[in-house]
Amino acid sequence: MYADYREKVNSASMAGAAGGDPKYRLGLSQNYMKLPAKDNFPDYSKFKCMVARHLTLEMYEKLYKRVTPNGVTIDKCIQPSCDNTGRIIGLVAGDEESYETFKELFDSLLDEKHGGFKPTDKHPPPDLDASKLVGGEFDEKYVRSCRVRTGRSVKGLCLPPAISRAERREVEKCIVTALAGLKDDLAGTYYPLGKMTPEQENTLIADHFLFQKPTGHLMVNSGAVRDWPDARGIWHNNEKTFLIWINEEDHCRVISMQKGGNLKAVFERFGRGLTQIETLMKSTGREFMWSPRLGYLCACPSNIGTGLRASVHIQLKGLCKRDDFDDIVVGLDLQKRGSGGEHTAAVDDVYDISNRARLKKSEREFVQLLIDGVNKLIEMEKRLAEGKSIDDLIPKKK
Ligand code: ADP
Ligand code: MG
Repeated sequence: MYADYREKVNSASMAGAAGGDPKYRLGLSQNYMKLPAKDNFPDYSKFKCMVARHLTLEMYEKLYKRVTPNGVTIDKCIQPSCDNTGRIIGLVAGDEESYETFKELFDSLLDEKHGGFKPTDKHPPPDLDASKLVGGEFDEKYVRSCRVRTGRSVKGLCLPPAISRAERREVEKCIVTALAGLKDDLAGTYYPLGKMTPEQENTLIADHFLFQKPTGHLMVNSGAVRDWPDARGIWHNNEKTFLIWINEEDHCRVISMQKGGNLKAVFERFGRGLTQIETLMKSTGREFMWSPRLGYLCACPSNIGTGLRASVHIQLKGLCKRDDFDDIVVGLDLQKRGSGGEHTAAVDDVYDISNRARLKKSEREFVQLLIDGVNKLIEMEKRLAEGKSIDDLIPKKK
């Protein structure tokens, strides 16, 4: 099987830019990784990351010379683990095939990262049906805005750590072409980052609509932020309630958001828009990267499955003053961020509360989990305001 991959890489480069001259055969020539695997094994003596704990020399020796049809090697995938000593994952996929080609390592990490996910386990099929949600219209005194996002990759093109400029431009082209077919409340316009003024960009960021150039170690150390801002941009409808980020951390991020407490409406628009984009893409012969076992695929193994993060901006004046605030949030299987997003602080006690996991439940189940958790947080907040105990509402420690 891996011999097949090598053959493909060699014949692709033979036919490609090398002009057929065997002298310039890329990838797996005789010199390819001619030094032994053990001499190339990273020094993990000071590292706490997940890859350092899972990747044994024995496993590395097995994976060392494997290469995907796009030329992705194990070293490309583990590079973040070599450049950061923190408690991180340290692994990225360079393409769809990375998950299979290096499955010994990927499966081992997926199992730990997702709290138990064996090679025989399967992620459930997609479910975007908002009508099945119970509740989801929150009191605006607490919930200021709602957002649902997911990441999607285009099948057949490399993921950001290994993507070429041409592929990145192809991602932009095929998604923007599909988006041009959206109608009515979903109809919108594409704004390439390279053509925006700094003022336009800053206003969109301040209003929570636009991404900033990623600075997280995983993106930077994996090479995913190369060529910025080439082929990056944002598409949005007129109301800025349906937004698509192109070539940020994923090929695309699909986002539905609005002010107020109606998470159900946000999820309804999310599902409707996403389904239409998928149909429009299929009409041009493109589809999203999806695996029957792992769900939707992207570069970061922690985001596979649904890729879904449903969040509310919620003011928790009482709860946030308690020492057990973090434990309560985690106990509800939720995650807390600041009001400017990841790695920011809360402003005026407004937090970004979202589902913590992405795999093993459907999209609808994750949104339901957030709804149930936020209802609990609001109940606690009300009790605290009345000076009452919340002991009976606190989730059990896991
Ligand atoms: P993600 O990785 O899910 O896109 P980030 O933490 O990177 O999320 O945040 C991206 C942007 O989305 C930030 O500006 C953040 O404040 C905004 N955001 C997240 N959730 C909400 C929400 N419920 N309402 C308004 N803005 C939100
Ligand atoms: Mg982000």
